[in-house]
Amino acid sequence: MAVAACDLTKHFHLNGNRRTALDGVSFSVRDRERLVILGPSGAGKTTLLRVIAGLERADRGAVLVDEREAGSMPAEDRRVAIVFDRDGLFPHLTLRQNLAFALRGERNNDRIEAAARDLGIGAHLQKRPGELSAGERQRASLARAMLSDPRVLLLDEPLSHLEPSLRSQVRRTFLAFSSSFGGAVIHVTHDHAEALTAGDRLAVMIGGKILQCDAPQRVYDYPANTSVARFFGTPPMNLLDDGMETLGIRPENVRLQNGGQLRGRVIAVESTGADAFVRVQTPRGELIARMPAAGVPETGAEVAATLPAEHVRRFDRTGVAAIA
Ligand code: ATP
Repeated sequence: MAVAACDLTKHFHLNGNRRTALDGVSFSVRDRERLVILGPSGAGKTTLLRVIAGLERADRGAVLVDEREAGSMPAEDRRVAIVFDRDGLFPHLTLRQNLAFALRGERNNDRIEAAARDLGIGAHLQKRPGELSAGERQRASLARAMLSDPRVLLLDEPLSHLEPSLRSQVRRTFLAFSSSFGGAVIHVTHDHAEALTAGDRLAVMIGGKILQCDAPQRVYDYPANTSVARFFGTPPMNLLDDGMETLGIRPENVRLQNGGQLRGRVIAVESTGADAFVRVQTPRGELIARMPAAGVPETGAEVAATLPAEHVRRFDRTGVAAIA
């Protein structure tokens, strides 16, 4: 096991108020495995990465790197590298000098050149960060992290400040690069699409706790509880009151057709171009159906929804999913 978090708990005290940033977080990540952590703002994601990197101390619990307690290790033995949302390069140094920092005095131009080349910035080694594009600077941050020869690579929303077209291009570079990395990767994101594609496993973190950790598609198809269902997906799963239970169904699985068993009225239609989201008020709660933009009903229309049984998920009164 490359890295493990064991019951990590961390509180912050601000103006007399106690905030729980981590509440008993445990998981482990193997070599060559990529764990994505998705959660809303304030969930504790950055705090978790900072504790794993040794930049912050937990109040309780432990971080293990290669089965050794990392808390007592000097930072250089911990071998955890972190790439933040901001590049963190020294503006007055060239790219070559910035990368050399990761080698801690070892003058190894071959390694610097190879890392820069692998990330497509080999031609820019004499430039200063101000002369590079935002995407090149983020790739330089990744190159610098990799040159420190980490066992664990932490990515804290490294693409969040890039404009959308550049983001998908740099994401491909990051993914290709991190999948050839032999250690463990923990990648924090806000982006739900990225959460489905960037990792082998997905952990959904809300309120300082990991509420579900599983294969991304499994989390999407079978949320473990209504908190995950209500959060994950854009838009998230529909949750309908069914007396003793809550029923969950993804918008793309709702059918609006004659003979549907759940009647309602269309309250809004939002087109995404190819598709439309049709919001329907029903006696069991609001329902969103995703359907092709051609042929959507108009706002105010009476419709009947079909909820195919194979796509319906059931949650008990405490919000816990029935076993699938
Ligand atoms: P975001 O997605 O917005 O970056 P996050 O999931 O990374 O959020 P954290 O930044 O880890 O969340 O914050 C978790 C909680 O801890 C929040 O309530 C935050 O206000 C609080 N917190 C984090 N750092 C500090 C600090 N240095 N002092 C006081 N409170 C803090």
